[in-house]
Amino acid sequence: MVKLTQGIKNVARFLFVTDLDNTFVGDDEALAELEQLLSQNRQEYGTKIVYATGRSPVLYEELKEEKNLIDPDALVLSVGTEIYLDKSNTPDSSWSEKLSPGWNREVVLSKTNVFSELYPQPNTEQGEFKVSFFLEKSLATRVLPQLESMLKESGLDVKLIYSSGIDLDIVPSGSDKGQAMQFLRQKWDFVPERTVACGDSGNDIALFAVGEERGILVGNARPELLQWHNENPANHRYLAKNICAGGIIEGLKYFGFL
Ligand SMILES: [Mg+2]
Repeated sequence: MVKLTQGIKNVARFLFVTDLDNTFVGDDEALAELEQLLSQNRQEYGTKIVYATGRSPVLYEELKEEKNLIDPDALVLSVGTEIYLDKSNTPDSSWSEKLSPGWNREVVLSKTNVFSELYPQPNTEQGEFKVSFFLEKSLATRVLPQLESMLKESGLDVKLIYSSGIDLDIVPSGSDKGQAMQFLRQKWDFVPERTVACGDSGNDIALFAVGEERGILVGNARPELLQWHNENPANHRYLAKNICAGGIIEGLKYFGFL
């Protein structure tokens, strides 16, 4: 009897990873329902809840307070450059160690200085492993390839993430929401089939492209994500009809997690 219960628990638990803005958050009524479902699942089966957001710690706290979000088991902040476990205030050091090779913040700053098209984002948005700018959409197709080859030539192992037609993040190449998700998945011993990621925009492609984890694109997914989805069809990814948390609930049911 005990064994049977154990078995059911292991099957029912899953790793839930979600972007926040316009994915988890955006429809208050559906969010309340989703939070209730997830909390119950966590309590009963040991499901883990992870928020993976481009937001910095400061902007995450603002949103958490505003929407009274349930506590996650881990936080992936600043586009995957920082992982916070439980309620720790310091980034997980084993993740930071993974990001260090090929990264040099000072060199990134000296190279990006050359481009007058790049406007630095506020200090709260900069991190040990993240340099962030605003870049106008109309300039991006010209600036991004130039910047990328300049950074590569200087021996850095970095990548450029351009999102929402305005945000440019330069981060270590081994860093994104998807890599962070896999780090947590392995740490907590979940198989890809019991892992699900949810998102709406360009910086969420990393969540969907990294492996065989299940993916939910909310119904309000942005054009850059939809385009990528159409060009890379996969059975383990689901495009929801409903928006935000409503789309997540729809997707979780589609995959049989709920
Ligand atoms: Mg988003």
